[in-house]
Amino acid sequence: MKNTVFTVAMAAAMAGCGGGEQSTAPATPEPGPPSVAAPAKAEPEPNRQPVGNINPQPKPTAKPIQPIQHEPIMKPTKVTAAKIVKTEAEWRATLTPEEYRILRQKGTERAFTGKYDHHFKDGTYTCKACGAALFLSETKYNSGCGWPAFFKSIDGTIDETRDTSLGMVRIEITCKKCNGHLGHIFDDGPKPAGLRYCVNSASMDFIPAGKKPGAAK
Ligand SMILES: [Zn+2]
Repeated sequence: MKNTVFTVAMAAAMAGCGGGEQSTAPATPEPGPPSVAAPAKAEPEPNRQPVGNINPQPKPTAKPIQPIQHEPIMKPTKVTAAKIVKTEAEWRATLTPEEYRILRQKGTERAFTGKYDHHFKDGTYTCKACGAALFLSETKYNSGCGWPAFFKSIDGTIDETRDTSLGMVRIEITCKKCNGHLGHIFDDGPKPAGLRYCVNSASMDFIPAGKKPGAAK
């Protein structure tokens, strides 16, 4: 008996709840002004502009607009397409805690502790998270900053994003393929480009020359 009472009460309550969503009425304003022209009553501009014209309104009447907009102006750098997408749990399962902290949480390894800081063998540096080739050994140099440094990345492999964390303005670099955090770019690199890609060792793997990137692990 009680049950039925409850169900009835519930049903009533729910009906009450749902009722609010019915008002999806077409509240569209009528196009065109109403036909009430108000002939006599139309006082033209009583005290309309006491404070001067704050609203300059350039009158967009006859602007000879050039027909630009044919092509996409520039690809936004943060397009998420053709990426490797994994859940955080999956990343945790494939990365060490330190790698996860750096690659997925934008951490930084302590200076002079990374295994590739003073590593100058021939080969390719790849993304530790997804295996994408990122840097060639011939672009690596010893910057003395405490992290692996490159003056150039392999074209099209890295995204650059303005990073204003820690009270500085820096350019963060991430793997284009998996969004993994790599490090930052600074403009104190060697000539001619003058760039220093400052990369965490933990964000990278190294494939010695002669082996194909992604083949070894
Ligand atoms: Zn990656």
